[in-house]
Amino acid sequence: MTVHRPGFVDVDHAGRIEDVGDATQPPPAGTDHTTQRVSGVLLPGLVNVHCHSPMTLLRGSGEDLPLLQWLEEVVWPREGRMNADDTYWGMTLACAELLRFGVTTSCEMYFYPEAVVDAVRDAGSRCVVTAAVLVAPGMEHLGGWQSQLDTAIGLGDRYAGDADPRVEVGLAAHAAYTLPIEALTGIAEAAGQRDRLLQIHVAESQHEGAELEAEHGKSVPALLEDIGFFEPRRVLAAHSVWLSDEDLAIYRRAGVAVAHCPQSNTKLASGIARVTDFLEAGIAVGLGTDGPASNNDLDLWEEARLAPLLQRARTGEATALPAEAALGLPTRGGAQALGRPDLGVLERGRWADLVRLETADAAFVPMLTDRDLLAHLVWSASSRHVRDVWVAGRRVVANGVVLTVDEERARAEVQQRAERLATG
Ligand SMILES: [Zn+2]
Repeated sequence: MTVHRPGFVDVDHAGRIEDVGDATQPPPAGTDHTTQRVSGVLLPGLVNVHCHSPMTLLRGSGEDLPLLQWLEEVVWPREGRMNADDTYWGMTLACAELLRFGVTTSCEMYFYPEAVVDAVRDAGSRCVVTAAVLVAPGMEHLGGWQSQLDTAIGLGDRYAGDADPRVEVGLAAHAAYTLPIEALTGIAEAAGQRDRLLQIHVAESQHEGAELEAEHGKSVPALLEDIGFFEPRRVLAAHSVWLSDEDLAIYRRAGVAVAHCPQSNTKLASGIARVTDFLEAGIAVGLGTDGPASNNDLDLWEEARLAPLLQRARTGEATALPAEAALGLPTRGGAQALGRPDLGVLERGRWADLVRLETADAAFVPMLTDRDLLAHLVWSASSRHVRDVWVAGRRVVANGVVLTVDEERARAEVQQRAERLATG
């Protein structure tokens, strides 16, 4: 959380950060350098660690229902009618929205992962696509879990190494309660063997795991640990709202990271995760918007403010998650949660994913100390101040306009496809 006033960021031709520092002592400009002067503040591009972004197609569908009823009666029937093209357009519109809010990386869990990857590549953003394996009513056309897993592994193999540095493919098990045990172990083994990020929903609502817990006589995290699900090096547990002290100890022991989704958790009345306890235990925590059908937007700035608000309400401590810690969640914390030391911080060697916010605004006045800047970013600024965005040094948003997506077409495609999905 170092503040350079004024500061510089030196970016190399590959789109990596060469140097960051005080602009009164800039690096010598070589002949192949161009210098661009900007006002406001430059931050690392935000990292949205838990998202089902193509659900832009379902925004506003089935409001005000309990989680399971919402999934079974509204979401899954519509998703059952979705095809790869629908996913592509849902993701394309989402990419425009994410970039406009300064979110340069999102970790996605969705069907038709290849369509998600294609949309991200076309939009110029960055993603970790954890291809979802799910067995649910109406989803039979996706095939059994084994064939879904094979498809996901195949896509990952195609993007392994440096095929496209903006795309990483991981694996996802939707949840312990939507998959048989042998599927969970199969997915975890595949992730471990290939060192893929492994994502799963855990303890989102209070009673979702009740049947499993009764059957196995232990909590879902304890069950997942027992069957080896936490053995891969990078495991990301979304939500993790209802965890006991023992569950927390398991996360710490196994190095499981948490994708905290405060807005989705409050909107769906799921509860408030123990974020300050996670951080105290040394568990990596990033922020997620969750899908746009349960949020209902992809604005990570809102999460960065809601997270500390909820922790203060939960603990009764006005010192919980100060601005530096809150701002750390969607940046450094997100990169840690994804196991990606190349993102989330402006420092040498990391990707030049940059966001510029305009500070000539009441939200940033007065600014007496560096700490005021951090406080204003969390408590009074918002995504409306994001003006420019770069991904790997390439400008993708200029003056609030997304340069890489035909937004008007994307809106029309999503509108028309959503109508079809709703009516069948
Ligand atoms: Zn989710």
